[in-house]
Amino acid sequence: MSYNSSNIFARILRGEIACVKIFENDYVLAFKDIHPKAPYHVLVVPKGEYRNFHDFHANAPAIMIGEFYQAVRQIIEQSKLNQDGYRLITNFGENGGQEVDHYHVHILGGKAIGPLIAS
Ligand code: 5GP
Repeated sequence: MSYNSSNIFARILRGEIACVKIFENDYVLAFKDIHPKAPYHVLVVPKGEYRNFHDFHANAPAIMIGEFYQAVRQIIEQSKLNQDGYRLITNFGENGGQEVDHYHVHILGGKAIGPLIAS
């Protein structure tokens, strides 16, 4: 399956759809999730055509991968989430519940989030 450049995050990256921006540099854009699942819910998206975790790690240049996770750490520290804790999530494919086929990491925090999978 190839990358579909009409996905929502590609459109946000192109500025076609608005977002509430939290962080941006040459490699990464981070913005608030439109349907937050916690008081703090931010999506971190690489500026490149990668569909999921595997595609990103197999095909992105090392600098992009390094800068992506540096940005995740910076965003967490800027928001002081590292004081009380947070959850990082990436969903992949049908079983993982991935809705948007552009690689992204969710950062969730601001309260005790509870069990990983609700029963
Ligand atoms: P996934 O299930 O693919 O890991 O998560 C996709 C996330 O993108 C969901 O949490 C959803 O609320 C969020 N989302 C979908 N459309 C938009 C949008 O147009 N703007 C923003 N900011 N978030 C979106």
